[in-house]
Formats: sequence, structure tokens, C-alpha cells
Amino acid sequence: MIAIQQVVKTFKNAAGEFTVLKGVDLTIEKGQFVAIIGKSGSGKSTLLNMMTGIDRPTAGKVFIGATDLYAMSESKRSLWRGKNMGIVFQFFQLLPMLTLLENVMLPMDYVGMYDVDERPRRALELLTLVGLEKQAGKLPLAVSTGQQQLAALARALANDPPLLVADEPTGNLDTRTADIVIELFQHFAEQGKTVVMVTHDPSLTERTSRTIIISDGEVVNETLAQAFPLLSHRQMLALTKQSVRQTVAPGKVVLSRDQHVDQLYIVVSGQAEVSIERKKHASAVARLAAGEFFGEVELLRGGKAVATVCAAPDASLELLAIPHEALLAALKDSPLTEAALTRIVQHRVGDGK
Ligand code: ADP
Ligand code: MG
Repeated sequence: MIAIQQVVKTFKNAAGEFTVLKGVDLTIEKGQFVAIIGKSGSGKSTLLNMMTGIDRPTAGKVFIGATDLYAMSESKRSLWRGKNMGIVFQFFQLLPMLTLLENVMLPMDYVGMYDVDERPRRALELLTLVGLEKQAGKLPLAVSTGQQQLAALARALANDPPLLVADEPTGNLDTRTADIVIELFQHFAEQGKTVVMVTHDPSLTERTSRTIIISDGEVVNETLAQAFPLLSHRQMLALTKQSVRQTVAPGKVVLSRDQHVDQLYIVVSGQAEVSIERKKHASAVARLAAGEFFGEVELLRGGKAVATVCAAPDASLELLAIPHEALLAALKDSPLTEAALTRIVQHRVGDGK
């Protein structure tokens, strides 16, 4: 649905050049509900503006479906966006002189979607969907801020776009209204729409299908972030840059017992089979799935591989390999991650006896 390829964004001003996005690659599938999180100033809004075509990249490409967003002229892009994308901002940006109903009709007027006679009925349906049918005739300032955001959400849906993009949509809402907004997003994603939401509220990521972390203008590897959620974003990014993707054919050995190990492996997709030798017979002790890792016993205790690890026979195995050295450096600054790893090692070594 969305393919961002090597996107760089540099702002130039009197003080000089400032690169905010440093070569972002990202693919988002249809029907996903994606949270983009990151520290203030990390480049989240800039990235979102690259997806919406509100701003343009300094280098790189953005595809929405089959459409090359920046191959179009500005005016074409603006029309295209009106038909294909719903956008929600932190500060709702409703037109103050128009009623909620008229605000929701505006995008239909702009791109000429739906018959003129049909527009008010459709706008009322959308306001009903967000629970605002009784407020339809009111001006934005006559309703609460939460209701304004719900109206902005109805407006974003005006042309039934397949893609919804929201920048901190709950940033100004009380928790109850924020909850309604997130529920609506979940509902849209279940219907097959794609929803991309920037947020600084990490608790919301439990309700999305995917979380993307931006650190200092770069994307953190998602598998790594899942495996080591207690590292700082900066540490995650440093490890992302030092890690290497590996593909292992079905049934092939990744690591043999007693072999020297200097990397930790996280399963990206497929499954890994861990086996140890008992009385000369190999016996499988575990199957590791996406997000699980091996090589951590050797990381913390040093020495040779304590088990043999193969790709499961049914499918190839995608791995992310992180050098022990890099991980040890990160652990120094993250006692919580070290404690979590130590517990896993104690558990595994206990099991392996
Ligand atoms: P976030 O949304 O993650 O808080 P932004 O994408 O808004 O971050 O901004 C990232 C960085 O880019 C910030 O340091 C910000 O000051 C800078 N920036 C954003 N927009 C502009 C602009 N139009 N001109 C210059 N610098 C900008
Ligand atoms: Mg922002």
C-alpha cells in the first residue's frame, strides 16, 4: 500500500542544512494499523508529510499503491490526495465559519465526489458514525475539542479513502475521546483500510498491528525493537546499523554445537530448531519463532555454542545477526535489558540439563 524508498529530507535555512530523514525505507501493507513513534524532533511528522505529499522529499521515492506520489504535478497530487487519503491532525483544522456538516462535505466538494444532492446525507452518515449526528448543525467552537477531533475524523472519511494518515490525533484529547478515536481506527483497519498514526503515547502501540520507531531520522529494525524493547531508541538504532540479515535454507544448520559464537541471532521469520545431543542422539529442545533469539547464552557466559541450531525443515529462516560486542556495549547502558537477558539464559540453561 505504501512504499517509501530511500527517502531523504533536508531542510535548508540561514543556519545551513539540516537532514531530518536520512534514507528511510519502509513498506506498509493494506489493512495494517501502524503506529509511528519516536522522540520529539526525531522526524515523525516529516515522514508523514512525505506519505501525504504535503511536503516533498529531497531524494527518494514514495509509492501509494501503484502511484508514484512525486511524479505528479503539485495540483494533480493535491486532487489525488483528496480522493485517496484522509488526513487527521493534532489540531483538528476545521474551518471555523462552517458547521460540522459543511466541514465534512468540504472534501467531497473539493474533488467533486458524490452527487451534490447526496453530499449532505453522506456527511450526516459520517457524523453519525462518530457519534455527532446531533451536533451536525453546530459551528466547531460550539462543541468540545474531543467532538471537533471526531468531526475532523468524519471529514477525513468523506471520500471513503483507502488510506488514513494521522499526526498525533489523540495529542489534545481526554483519554475517553482518545479511546473512541483509536477504536474507530481499529475498526477502519479491520474493514481493510490502511491506517498510519504518529503518536508519542507508547501505550497506544498495544492496539496497533505494527509499531515503527523513528530515531534521529532513521527507522529502527522492528524485529530488534520487539526482541529488546527496553533499550533506548538510540541504542536500538545503533544495533540496527550493526546487524546483518541472513537467510537460511530449510533444514540447514546455522550454528553447530561447540562452534565459536560471536553473534546473537533474532528470528525475523520462519522457525529455528534448537537441539542438543543426548547419548549421541540429537534431540530437539525448542522451536524459536519470530522475535525469539539464540546465541545469548554464549553472549553472557562466553565460549562455544551450547546447542545446534537449524532452520526448521518446512520453510526458510530469516535471521538478524547482531555482533556480541555491539550488544554487550548496549547492555552496559541498559541494566534492565541485561537483567531480562540473564533471566532468559538462566531459564534456558536450566531447561537444557
Ligand atoms: P517530530 O514530528 O518527530 O517531533 P518533525 O518531523 O516535526 O519531528 O521535525 C524533525 C526535525 O526537523 C526537527 O528538528 C524540526 O525542527 C526540523 N524541521 C521540521 N520541519 C522543518 C522545516 N520546515 N524547516 C526546518 N526544519 C524543520
Ligand atoms: Mg510531529
